[in-house]
Amino acid sequence: MLLKMIRQYKLQNVQTTQCFVRLLASNSKNNHEKVKFDSSATAYGHKSKSELFRGWFVFKLCSYSSLVNNLSQLFNISRTILGQRLFEYIMRSTIYGHFVAGTNKTELKPITERLRKHGVKLILDYCMESDISSNNNQQKINSSILNPSNENIYNENLLKAIKNVQTAAELYGSSAMIAMKITAFVPPDILQKLNQILEEQQPSTKLSILEFISNTSTMNKDELTEVKHLIQRINRIIQEVKKHNGRIFIDAEQSYFQTAIHRLVLELQEQYNRDNLIVYNTYQCYRKTTLNLLQQDLIRSKTNNFHIGFKLVRGAYMDQERKRAAEMKIIDPIHPNFLATTESYHRAFVETLENAKNNPNKVHIFVASHNENTVQFALKTMDLMNIKRDDGLVSFATLFGMCDYLTFPLAAVGYDAYKLTPYGPIHRLLPYLTRRAQENRAIFAKAEKDRQLHYKALKERILH
Ligand SMILES: Cc1cc2nc3c(=O)[nH]c(=O)nc-3n(C[C@H](O)[C@H](O)[C@H](O)COP(=O)(O)OP(=O)(O)OC[C@H]3O[C@@H](n4cnc5c(N)ncnc54)[C@H](O)[C@@H]3O)c2cc1C
Repeated sequence: MLLKMIRQYKLQNVQTTQCFVRLLASNSKNNHEKVKFDSSATAYGHKSKSELFRGWFVFKLCSYSSLVNNLSQLFNISRTILGQRLFEYIMRSTIYGHFVAGTNKTELKPITERLRKHGVKLILDYCMESDISSNNNQQKINSSILNPSNENIYNENLLKAIKNVQTAAELYGSSAMIAMKITAFVPPDILQKLNQILEEQQPSTKLSILEFISNTSTMNKDELTEVKHLIQRINRIIQEVKKHNGRIFIDAEQSYFQTAIHRLVLELQEQYNRDNLIVYNTYQCYRKTTLNLLQQDLIRSKTNNFHIGFKLVRGAYMDQERKRAAEMKIIDPIHPNFLATTESYHRAFVETLENAKNNPNKVHIFVASHNENTVQFALKTMDLMNIKRDDGLVSFATLFGMCDYLTFPLAAVGYDAYKLTPYGPIHRLLPYLTRRAQENRAIFAKAEKDRQLHYKALKERILH
């Protein structure tokens, strides 16, 4: 009866998600009720007193949006005034120390072990990426194509990515997981051009990207070589993941890259996910086209018989996308409001979960969200569909240093729970943290709950 309602909800697309959540809440009294998202003891039991204080302090700082908005300038000024060593010391005692797990394997190891005791695993992300705008670049991309210094950067990134896979394997064995961005391995202007070609020409999915661009005159010889190099690099990384029986998230990025990224990852899934799930694609539910794409991909995975992994996110580039759409006078690719994005996310979850249930071991979903309602929605939907926490169909992930009050209580009662964990040298991570802080201002405004629970946990620890 209730499953019928879910289907009706999906078909009619008229009721709001909030109605659906209320419907679920009134009808299911199962596992989700055992998860308590307000327990400071469960959420922060893994932290020392000084880490609790640091967490409280960092969330206090993050609640000032003027500070978050000017973070990168602030980093630059304080680095100049304080000097590198003092600056790094302060960063380690505050923002970097709270949101980043360390610089290398030696620093990651104790954190990994501590979290493992609480049932929480890490997804390792050695931060590397680039963008069209030079202001956002984490690396010096000189000009576009076949520039030897660019090639060096991408080949160095390849080695770092392989090392990241090996580090994850050493820490986790066969349950190792890593995350990475395609833009770390190709000049952004080439990826953008490829994206434009794929959007305009929509080649048949029977052809691979490489077959298509090799057989048309859409790219010149140098550009084609860059795309070939990109595909070789990504293949090399996934082969390393496969060798260690690990899994890899490939992140979704800006819309001017994402059609190419999505299609490339789908091809990789078809190639590598034959016997088991290795490669996950990311679905940004704030995009108007995502639900259709997800449905097409589910069909393709069934028709072509490969395993498919979904990382469901809301999307991190909304401000940039909206600004770009307005400047270029193109249609805004993002849903008009937060409720529409949430509805798209929840529908994507129901759609993928139904498929996962009907195709056990073939479809797997990561709920990658800090939104408590979305996590509750996922738990209730699982209950309603009679899917158990240990059925291996759904996992949950949040970012390291954020919303432990979701991840640890989930892990405590047996759900598969992860922290996506950036690591690396401070200079490399600061632009990443700045971008995350700025793009997720709304989350940092919600940091109030995190801050209060840190304070409660600290008080309890001092008094006992
Ligand atoms: C494990 C993990 C992996 C991630 N990987 C990626 C990735 O590969 N690519 C990527 O783009 N993002 C990624 N993200 C970030 C994610 O997309 C979100 O930016 C972030 O998690 C906020 O969404 P939320 O569901 O956590 O929570 P919430 O706090 O509920 O979301 C709030 C955010 O919703 C946004 N929003 C979305 N649509 C709208 C709209 N139409 N109107 C108003 N606001 C809107 C706002 O920007 C606001 O910041 C990842 C997040 C996690 C936790």
